[in-house]
Amino acid sequence: MENAILQLSYLIGSITFILGLKMLSHPDTARKGNLIAAAGMIIAIFATIFLYEYTGGEGQPVRLHNYGWIFGGLIIGTVVGSFAAKKVQMTAMPEMVSMFNGMGGACAMLISLVEYNKPEVKETGTMIVIALGMLIGTVSFAGSMIAWGKLAGKIKDRTIPGGQVINFIIFAGLITLVVLVVGGFLPEMHGLFYGILALAALYGILFVMPIGGADMPVVISLLNSFTGVAAAFGGFLYNNPVMLTGGILVGSAGTILTILMCKAMNRSLKNVLIGSFGGAKAGAAAGNKEQGNYKEISLNDTATLMAYAQKVMIIPGYGLAVAQAQHTCHELEKVLTDKGVEVVYGIHPVAGRMPGHMNVLLAEADVPYEKLMEMEDANDQMGTTDVVLILGANDVVNPAAKEDPTSPIYGMPILEVEKAKHVIVNKRSMKPGYAGIENELFFRPKTSMLFGDAKKVLQDLVSEMKQV
Ligand code: NDP
Repeated sequence: MENAILQLSYLIGSITFILGLKMLSHPDTARKGNLIAAAGMIIAIFATIFLYEYTGGEGQPVRLHNYGWIFGGLIIGTVVGSFAAKKVQMTAMPEMVSMFNGMGGACAMLISLVEYNKPEVKETGTMIVIALGMLIGTVSFAGSMIAWGKLAGKIKDRTIPGGQVINFIIFAGLITLVVLVVGGFLPEMHGLFYGILALAALYGILFVMPIGGADMPVVISLLNSFTGVAAAFGGFLYNNPVMLTGGILVGSAGTILTILMCKAMNRSLKNVLIGSFGGAKAGAAAGNKEQGNYKEISLNDTATLMAYAQKVMIIPGYGLAVAQAQHTCHELEKVLTDKGVEVVYGIHPVAGRMPGHMNVLLAEADVPYEKLMEMEDANDQMGTTDVVLILGANDVVNPAAKEDPTSPIYGMPILEVEKAKHVIVNKRSMKPGYAGIENELFFRPKTSMLFGDAKKVLQDLVSEMKQV
């Protein structure tokens, strides 16, 4: 009976996870989906704590009993996690996601460590799962920590001379170690297993370290899928269906997202895996170009231009998130709509600092989802747009991605704002964006610069607009 309840709780956990994931695909249902999946997972966790049985040392079934450790960990984790998630600024969200993802990898790593050190004889299948869980979990943990440091600005991009060759050698070394450990070829050498731990950590660090320019989103989503796969290995080990389903879903969702990101950035997955992105070096070289002349536009002129336009496209970027200007932006959109102007948003898939960043930000401000145009649709509509208002975006509208083969972002599809009649760029200075490179767009004839913090400029623009 108790086993039936346990299995039922796993079924509930799996179904709610799938349901939750499905609901995450639309902003209207995303919040509820998250809660449903979390509730299902809580049921599965508590059922495991109180009902799961394993075979003890004398061959008899044993329940989990070390409740002090289990609940101690649960309470500390819940307090730290909830506090961090509540306190985090929207702009620091990607760092937090990376950190939490790393913790998932660390769990998989620890599971493998514990299982390897259990005295009973293990079958080859179990050893494969333990070794691969250790490898993938550790790469994900180490890589995510570096990604966290880079997004938080604590670690700089570093290109290591011969990095690709070193990465390849480490990778080959890792595969050799896994084969030796799993095959039990050198049974007296227990250290080999810890060699996997050390090399995987090194690989994780070296593979994320040089990635710079604008390529972090791909890596973050790849590491996310690694963690899912590592968790699925844990599900195999403990014969736990909910861990298996959860792991597989995270792994496959992360992989799909990685492929979509690769497409959006125009990079091949092979490049990601061997860590050969255009990193710090290329970015620095391209950043040294001479600046040209740019022209500024006043708030008053901007308001007039937009008020008399038929169609305005707002292009949000990382700066909008920094300024927390999403609500004021929605206000501007409403004022314009009241004046009979058609307003849409052009959303680049890697705008901001995390996948879907702009969608989340604008949903938070209640911007209707139908107004958000994906990049391809936005580009199709650009020709019929009178004014493009770029709010704190830079790399995602940089024409160098199309025109300059030496640019580190060359090949990345961009929002082709120059097809519109007027382009107004709001940012605080002429400083570059994430990729660290100059943006020719700011010096082009159609472009006017509207300097200032996005929130302040938008507030002023709304009051100005009300008087037009
Ligand atoms: P960028 O980082 O290219 O540019 C943002 C611009 O916003 C800056 O040039 C900055 O200029 C301006 N800005 C900053 N603060 C403010 C403010 N308070 N008010 C107004 N403007 C401000 O952003 P994009 O969104 O265009 O591009 C995203 C970049 O991040 C891409 O290169 C992408 O690859 C990368 N990335 C994306 C991730 C994702 O998953 N989406 C993850 C990691 C990286 P100034 O200082 O002059 O104000």
